[in-house]
Amino acid sequence: MRKLYFYDSQRCDFVAVDYSKRDKVFHTVTTWLLVGIVAAGLFLTSLIYLSGSPAEIALRAENNELVRQHRAHQANLSRLSIQLSELSARDNEVYRTVLGMEPISDDERRAGAGGADIFARYDGLNVSTTALLRETSAELENLEQRLSIQQFSFDEVKEFYNQNASKMKHLPILRPLDGIILSGYGMRTHPVLGVRRMHEGLDFRASVGTPIYAPGDGVIKYSANRAGGYGLVIEIEHGHGYMTRFAHLSGFGDGIRVGKRVKRGDLIGYSGRSGVVSGPHLHYEIHKNGRPVDPLNYLFADLTPQEYRVFTRINSAQTASN
Ligand SMILES: [Zn+2]
Repeated sequence: MRKLYFYDSQRCDFVAVDYSKRDKVFHTVTTWLLVGIVAAGLFLTSLIYLSGSPAEIALRAENNELVRQHRAHQANLSRLSIQLSELSARDNEVYRTVLGMEPISDDERRAGAGGADIFARYDGLNVSTTALLRETSAELENLEQRLSIQQFSFDEVKEFYNQNASKMKHLPILRPLDGIILSGYGMRTHPVLGVRRMHEGLDFRASVGTPIYAPGDGVIKYSANRAGGYGLVIEIEHGHGYMTRFAHLSGFGDGIRVGKRVKRGDLIGYSGRSGVVSGPHLHYEIHKNGRPVDPLNYLFADLTPQEYRVFTRINSAQTASN
């Protein structure tokens, strides 16, 4: 420790200050303590400057977690968007088309989504955050828009079906018998008479006694033997301009007579080989507004009568249990 002197004016001389040992220790300790505090302060300040305060570190961790979750939500949104696209395609291709409704175009389905700069509120944030928020918000907006249009479409389909439910039940769209088609609708050489003439129906291969089912709801209009090669015939009046004819039968179902109401899938008769035929088969005609049409165009349900009956039994069982 350096010596300190003071000037003694009486002695006209410099006299060394004589500190006690306790004072010396106190002085040293305080000096180093101050140096230590200043150094620690400097160290903490630079540490905070470089890595942030504890509050900032916690916020940064929270922010990283939020961004991670946000990206996960964005991935979920994209998946939902793809599912909705598939649903919309099925809506257009199946429900609306089969029911004869106009499909909704992709443009219409996306109408109004995106566009307006409603995301400008994110502009103050840093670039990647802005992009992330904008992207997600736009995707959500788009999804909501498309969902509401899909909802609207399903409401429309339901209403159309309800309004046309009676017509749907009466349309002759069920295959009248489980058998392959031997001969189609159109001009052909008659298998027995050997002359070219119009074949006004479909021929199904069927051994004698194969059950025949009503292809749609209706009323029996004719059930008797008919001259001119048809043999035993049943005709059903379905309403909405539709009539079906079944020829070359071997017999009628229980209670089948003129005026009897039948439902789709009811057993109406049995195929056979009555009339002018080369072998047993069912001749099936559909008439619309008095003219024969190709029954093939009406078999779009593509169910066998057995499948249809099982299906409606399951349906009615489910309705009953509900
Ligand atoms: Zn025929």
